[in-house]
Amino acid sequence: MSNLNLKAKQQNSYDAIVIGSGASGGWAAKELCEKGLKTLVLERGRMVRHIEDYPTASKAPWEFEFRGTVPIEKRSGVGAARWGREETMHWALAEDEQPYIEEKPFRWFRGYHVGGKSLLWARGTQRWSDYDLEGPARDGYAVDWPIRYQDLEPWYSYVEKFVGFAGSRDGLPELPDQIVQPGFELSCIEKYYAEQLKSMYGNRHLIQGRCAHLTDPQEIHKQQGRNKCQHQNMCNRGCVYGGYFSANASTLPWAEKTGNLTVRPDAVVESILYDEEKGRAIGVRIIDRNTKEAMEFYSKIIFVNASTINSNAILLNSKSSRFPNGLGNDNGLMGKFMACHNYRGKGFATFEGFQDKATEGRHPGHAYVPRFRNVFKQDTDFLRG
Ligand SMILES: Cc1cc2nc3c(=O)[nH]c(=O)nc-3n(C[C@H](O)[C@H](O)[C@H](O)COP(=O)(O)OP(=O)(O)OC[C@H]3O[C@@H](n4cnc5c(N)ncnc54)[C@H](O)[C@@H]3O)c2cc1C
Repeated sequence: MSNLNLKAKQQNSYDAIVIGSGASGGWAAKELCEKGLKTLVLERGRMVRHIEDYPTASKAPWEFEFRGTVPIEKRSGVGAARWGREETMHWALAEDEQPYIEEKPFRWFRGYHVGGKSLLWARGTQRWSDYDLEGPARDGYAVDWPIRYQDLEPWYSYVEKFVGFAGSRDGLPELPDQIVQPGFELSCIEKYYAEQLKSMYGNRHLIQGRCAHLTDPQEIHKQQGRNKCQHQNMCNRGCVYGGYFSANASTLPWAEKTGNLTVRPDAVVESILYDEEKGRAIGVRIIDRNTKEAMEFYSKIIFVNASTINSNAILLNSKSSRFPNGLGNDNGLMGKFMACHNYRGKGFATFEGFQDKATEGRHPGHAYVPRFRNVFKQDTDFLRG
């Protein structure tokens, strides 16, 4: 019997386990597999393979029952299901499957499928500067970051080369330049607005938003099988060109090519196994979404990349004598004080003029106003940006 157990344990042992296959899990898998580690990626949702599992990618509006927008009375539930877009509805978790209590309007976007929210994100990707990282040290509020821009800079560059970004080099200290391919040109009205801002305020800028789109694919992107962005603005359906970065188009297939990757979809990680004698984590326990069977997988290295709320939930679930309140939760703060991603900080306006101009092509990068308040000095009664 013990031999049988040993065999099962060996079969379920890997050099590394990654929980979650989204933006960060895909990267972890790429790095680990490239370094020769046999890596198991556990993903609670279904498999989504690049291109073949993007069912609406090339559909025209008239091919959808409601021409794209689901009537309000037919939308149900809370959160993401309310967005009502037919093209991307299949990425939204059925809210009746996992409802949550919404006391104030709160959209909890969950990408429960291989690729996670890397398929849903808006691809805006700017670097942080020391003005951001030094915030707590300067104003004394919250805990200082243990790193500064010079620690991050090589890693930004490392990621940017592989991912590929479009944008401009703006020379702004509050928004460090990054490795970019040609950006999406601002429209005539955006250019006008940029000039007005600069002339009126000096330190306020409107720039091309830097975004994870390929406008001039380099060899490293071609090796990923990715091509130039076609400006279709249909990104969230999944891009058959690989024009924008997603785990599905980029990091996961790259990891797969090494022969070291195993992806197990439909595997809901319930907890991390902690060995009291060894004093360390030794594996994870999953529940198979379809069979409801519980299984264990073992590894010395475990990356928790299940996104903010689910990573906290897994750790809180991982109780042992050493960690009665959840793994790593000695201070009792886990699961509290989590920050939400600010989804919509947008402004819209109309302007009378430029009637003689037309805009060529779509503009997936958008225009972007870098933070201008409380950067070089404190000029409001609130802290930071
Ligand atoms: C609409 C939208 C727009 C956005 N726009 C931007 C933007 O412009 N710029 C930007 O920087 N960011 C943006 N984001 C945020 C960005 O998508 C996330 O920060 C990023 O995807 C987080 O990566 P992650 O790997 O932590 O989580 P995810 O990408 O969400 O991946 C987590 C994965 O873990 C899986 N998982 C969860 N629980 C378990 C479990 N128990 N067991 C196994 N697997 C599990 C999930 O199914 C998922 O696949 C946007 C997000 C949304 C929703």
